[in-house]
Amino acid sequence: MLQSKLSKAVALTSVFIASLALSSTARAITPEDKVVLEQLKQSSLKSDLSYELIESLTTEVGNRLMGTEGDKRSIEWAVNKMKALGFDKVWTEEVKGTYWQRGHAHAQIVAPFPQKMVVLALGGSVSTPQGGLEAQVAHFETLADLKAAPDNSLNGKIAFVSYRMTKHIDGKGYGPAVGTRVTGASVAAQKGASALIMRSVGTDNNRTAHTGVMRYQEGIAKIPAVALSNPDADLLVNQLKRNKPVTFKLAVETITGHGQSAVSANVIGEITGSELPNEIVAIGAHLDSWDVGTGALDDGLGIGMTMAAAAQIAQLESRPKRTIRVILFAAEEVGLLGAKQYLADRKDDVSDHVLGAEWDFGMGPIYKMTPGVGANALNSIREFAQIIAPLGVSLSPMNNGVAQSDMSLLTKAGMPSVNFAPDGTDYFDYHHTENDTLDKVNPDDLKINTTIYTLFAYYAAQAPVDFRK
Ligand code: ZN
Ligand code: ZN
Repeated sequence: MLQSKLSKAVALTSVFIASLALSSTARAITPEDKVVLEQLKQSSLKSDLSYELIESLTTEVGNRLMGTEGDKRSIEWAVNKMKALGFDKVWTEEVKGTYWQRGHAHAQIVAPFPQKMVVLALGGSVSTPQGGLEAQVAHFETLADLKAAPDNSLNGKIAFVSYRMTKHIDGKGYGPAVGTRVTGASVAAQKGASALIMRSVGTDNNRTAHTGVMRYQEGIAKIPAVALSNPDADLLVNQLKRNKPVTFKLAVETITGHGQSAVSANVIGEITGSELPNEIVAIGAHLDSWDVGTGALDDGLGIGMTMAAAAQIAQLESRPKRTIRVILFAAEEVGLLGAKQYLADRKDDVSDHVLGAEWDFGMGPIYKMTPGVGANALNSIREFAQIIAPLGVSLSPMNNGVAQSDMSLLTKAGMPSVNFAPDGTDYFDYHHTENDTLDKVNPDDLKINTTIYTLFAYYAAQAPVDFRK
């Protein structure tokens, strides 16, 4: 009865609703749970476990692209760690895909002013012809400009898109920039270009290029695609400003596997629920990484945070009511293959997943929580928001939260979700580069973020709430 009155009140002001929720006697978080949450908060804020896990992964495994030795070692690493951390059940689920391996990449401006350039092949790119290719550069400021070029207007030329990703706390500059990386090669090929070079999708000023997945469109010639470091993109733009033809030489070797299939695996570990073992609270991250750097941020952070959160809860005297499942997804970087397989194995039915959250973004502190739950469950979420407010997290007034990366597919398949937003201002300085390494992890921010995930997992496993309603 109270619940239905409350749901009618949702149309009123949020201030009123907040005070109503506080005065409610039907609290979702019991005094006993509050004691445990406080205990978990204190122990987690003191614990170095998530950092130690990232240190171990980056030191003992390193990068781990689908199908590589690192990928295989990371699966073994995750299984062993979960067992050692006291997970009740640990298993793997096979994920199939293809194997792509980078070879060398050399680039230089040949004329008018010869200069060496730092480039990195985009993931999935083909090689240049033997000996490389040399051609005049056709400059476009955006992907839209490239798309607007007439077909065959780039015959014998290299297309260059110089659009620069902008820096924002929520990483919203990524979306407008990444389209060139994913689709630009086929657009350029359709116009007749022999290669695509693009400014890296990144916000740094390092002479380090950013990689990431690209795709060829069926029926269009496959041309090599590379990213230039930001300073090199600036240099190329400056040479183009001289209004003289700029000639560029590119030599890229990649091993695409020629249909060579690869097998990887999702690694899954559980803390079995004491009363509702078939109801699952899902937290997770992706286990794979790009083949440059050591994948400390992308997604070592998520691996460390979610494994440590479950491990903290496993240390409690008694198990929470629901099962806490940590899912480390395979092959996210090459197209969410692990998440797709996870869903396929469950026939698009994730009704036993009561609430979920992934971590795959940013090393800065979490400042906002956006739920994506049923209207009636919001009161309980508001109570939880009070628990994590002292850690610097505010509750978004929106109720349209989508879980990050892999788990966004689970959200779409009906899993109630929570999205935790960190300060992502500097994340794209390092993302998909050689500089994605352990030193970029801030241990203090990591402790706070790990604590938030620990409290979230425990709360979700205990709350007597149907998050779908
Ligand atoms: Zn990622
Ligand atoms: Zn990534």
